[in-house]
Amino acid sequence: MLDVRCEDGRVRELAASLSPRAGEEILEARAGALIPGLHDHHIHLHALAAALTSIRCGPPEVKNLSDLERALAVEPDEGGWLRGTGYFESVAGPLDRARLDRLRGDLPVRVQHRSGAMWFLNSRALEALSIADLTSPDEACSDAEVATFERDARGRATGRLFRADAWLRHRLPTANPPDLARVGRRLSAYGVTTVTDATATNGPNEASRFRAAQASGALLQNLSLMGTLGQRGLGEGMDSALRLDAHKIMLDEPTLPDLERLVETIEVAHANDRPVAIHTVTRTELHFALAALESAGVRDGDRLEHASVAPPEAIETVARLDLTVVTQPNFLAERGDAYRENVEARDLPHLYRVRSWLAAGVRLGAGTDAPFGHPDPWRAMRAAVDRRTPSGETLGSEERVSPETALALFQPAFARDAQPARATAPALHVGGPADLCLLAVPWRRARLDLSSDHVAATLRRGALIFSS
Ligand SMILES: [Zn+2]
Repeated sequence: MLDVRCEDGRVRELAASLSPRAGEEILEARAGALIPGLHDHHIHLHALAAALTSIRCGPPEVKNLSDLERALAVEPDEGGWLRGTGYFESVAGPLDRARLDRLRGDLPVRVQHRSGAMWFLNSRALEALSIADLTSPDEACSDAEVATFERDARGRATGRLFRADAWLRHRLPTANPPDLARVGRRLSAYGVTTVTDATATNGPNEASRFRAAQASGALLQNLSLMGTLGQRGLGEGMDSALRLDAHKIMLDEPTLPDLERLVETIEVAHANDRPVAIHTVTRTELHFALAALESAGVRDGDRLEHASVAPPEAIETVARLDLTVVTQPNFLAERGDAYRENVEARDLPHLYRVRSWLAAGVRLGAGTDAPFGHPDPWRAMRAAVDRRTPSGETLGSEERVSPETALALFQPAFARDAQPARATAPALHVGGPADLCLLAVPWRRARLDLSSDHVAATLRRGALIFSS
């Protein structure tokens, strides 16, 4: 048992027994474990805020066509639109304008694919955005995004838009900006005190919205902000609560850039003193990213987001290049059955690895990728431990890790060891930030089910941001 004294946002003293000083607040931990606050290393805050007020259009809530019909039979938002998220083909096959029109043709509807890469729009939505008969197939909206509007053989918009988030954001009726307070509260209740927002399109506008949300107390977490270099002014006014993070590079297998161009992008980021974070989901994307990094050279902080399919030779290269990987074991618990059906059999053992990365000496962190994954990091930790799919099958059992390693993936410092010595919670350090998560039970109990229900209180910089 230990007493902890926090002062000026830092842990000042750790001792068997400390006597309270005048004016100090006391938080009684009883026998609960006090651990460092969690860090979600890959999340999308604005998209999560929007998703929390959107209609769920995919599993587990929506499983088939009649579920989807029911889900979409609701009142529109104040802009007169319906916004759905999380669609997956297992619900009702490929979605397009005609199918959406049959489901709901009376008002503009947009539904996001669960990958986040695609939006489906019905005819009313296409008309509202004046792209129903647009002839140009795509439009650049930022240096991080080229929106593509799919057309049929006759040149008519199919209602499928790829990488069109920024494009849509600028053209949709300006409903209220997404409510970050809801996100802040939700993450605090999980014990999350810091997040890395991995959104490629983050720019100065997003940064100032985050800064305002932190100042007003709506957003309760420290934030590390990715974005792209071309977003002028993105790094201005950064401090310890809002830090500038890596230059994010999206790779999409069907539209990979020239290798030389990717090498140059990495070199320019490095020359500007920014590490890069490369989004790689497929085997090809991973090999492509590694070839570019080999050629450009690696600097401190360079990382791979997802590295979802990682064959053994890629693990060796990642270790040799000393890259950091940020993985999402929660996708196994959320989408594992779909992976078993849709992912090539040879790639199944390579999915969202954990143990192999650590065994190879790779620095590893985890992020929920919310709203594309569930925002509760404890679910992701559980998935790293049991690797169970929704139907209870195990996927990649040799990649399982201990609860302590799973917790280490959500700590501020990346994990690098597959086998922590003992079944104890991570220790606090005098002088470290007082970003803390108090559990209602001892670690030896919490490690059995890794449930966010055990979170009793969360402190950021010594201030209480959640209490159950
Ligand atoms: Zn992401």
